[in-house]
Amino acid sequence: MITPAAPESSLVGVLGGTFNPVHYGHLRSALELVERLDLEQLRLMPSAEPPHRTSPDCSAEHRAAMVGLAVTGERHLTCDLRELKRPGKSFTIDSLIELREELGAQTGLCMVMGCDAVLDIPGWHRWEELLDWAHIIVIARPGWELPESGVVATWLADNRLDDAGALRQRPAGGVLIEELRPLAISSTEIRALLASGRSVRYLTPQSVLEYIQTYNLYR
Ligand code: ATP
Repeated sequence: MITPAAPESSLVGVLGGTFNPVHYGHLRSALELVERLDLEQLRLMPSAEPPHRTSPDCSAEHRAAMVGLAVTGERHLTCDLRELKRPGKSFTIDSLIELREELGAQTGLCMVMGCDAVLDIPGWHRWEELLDWAHIIVIARPGWELPESGVVATWLADNRLDDAGALRQRPAGGVLIEELRPLAISSTEIRALLASGRSVRYLTPQSVLEYIQTYNLYR
């Protein structure tokens, strides 16, 4: 049972994804959220075995290594490897339960997702329990709109917080929608550019580019 957070308790964010590969859309959104919500840290958490898509050709180890390189030197961003260490499908609910055990009942935990991800949420394993363990921060993403009716719209309306201040009044249980700088970058497009021999420079950090070249990924 989660008790109300102390007024000055800290907030930790987690951004799950395939990160195939990580790009500036992920990184800039992560950093803007750290600053806007005053997060103690935001953990980028690569999925080892994404439950809702075919397994990526690029291994979880490569994808996580690129996330690690991308966040090097940014003290508020880290790479969380828990889903690589856990066998089987990478269910978000399992990661949130583990994080809650590690952080304790009082720390605010914010699960971050883009609005494309939130549209799929009713298909997630035990999705109705997610808010028992964390808040959910939905970030606007170019080309995607939140629904106006249906299960997701109702769920958003029932749980939506008015402002970021409400995140600190309890450790979990609310949905906050944040408009960040829109960056129309996707991993799908990066993979397509690389497969056709074109440059992805300035879409992802140089360290990630060099890793892709070294291991000849996405060709
Ligand atoms: P793909 O194109 O392979 O589906 P992706 O670019 O959407 O990949 P993911 O690793 O699936 O990247 O995304 C992880 C999380 O980051 C998701 O919640 C997604 O909505 C969000 N996200 C991805 N790209 C952006 C972006 N450009 N701006 C804001 N959020 C993003």
